[in-house]
Amino acid sequence: SRTPLIAGNWKMHKTGTQAVEAAGKLKRLVDAARDVEIMIAPTYTALYQVAQTLKGSAIAVGAQDLFYEKQGAFTGKISSEMLVDAGCSHVIIGHSERRQFFGETDETVNRKIQAALSADLIPVFCIGESEAQREAGDTFSVLDKQVRVGLKDFVSEALTRIVIAYEPVWAIGTGKTATREQAQEAHQFIRSLLETLFGKPFADTVRILYGGSVKPDNVRALMEMPDVDGALVGGASLDPETFSKLVFYN
Ligand code: 13P
Repeated sequence: SRTPLIAGNWKMHKTGTQAVEAAGKLKRLVDAARDVEIMIAPTYTALYQVAQTLKGSAIAVGAQDLFYEKQGAFTGKISSEMLVDAGCSHVIIGHSERRQFFGETDETVNRKIQAALSADLIPVFCIGESEAQREAGDTFSVLDKQVRVGLKDFVSEALTRIVIAYEPVWAIGTGKTATREQAQEAHQFIRSLLETLFGKPFADTVRILYGGSVKPDNVRALMEMPDVDGALVGGASLDPETFSKLVFYN
């Protein structure tokens, strides 16, 4: 009964012109999609144009990050209010590339989720272990800490619209997808942790997406797993034809 969400993270790809072209194509390709939510996250400079292009369609627009302060002397930063104004309904928070390259921590993630929710943006909260952490047997303890600190001081009522994305770092952009069993095991762990922290009604309804080398030829197997509620897709979201195959995974 959880509506699947297929989300595309375009990362640092496509200019405004290219993004509008791809969004327009995608809009036509997925026009007939039912019982699935669709979101794409273009780069900041393309957000407004893409949101205009997708107005009235079933495709939601998300940003790839935000800054948690409301406004002020923060050169180069973008607030939640600015994202809403540009036409976003969603925002990706805590992506592993931001954690790896841009100093994102569980604490900044927590503040960013707060900022997103207060602006009525739906946070797509990313977590996931590195290859070394998995090999050391630390996957669950890493996920446990990311969830506990990322969602610290929230009550379930405030979180109702949040989406979680499990993205094992070793599967991102590597072509090395987690097996459906590995994904299910992690998703189940996350859901039961969320039940402990926020109660069963919340845990039963929250969507947990899988991300990491999702492709048309593996999406269905992943989506068949009971705790996999969607996909957060990088590479395979860039081409509208390919991404539309993911939307029509069924
Ligand atoms: P790939 O689909 O390219 O592995 O990227 C996954 C991802 O990081 C989505 O946020």
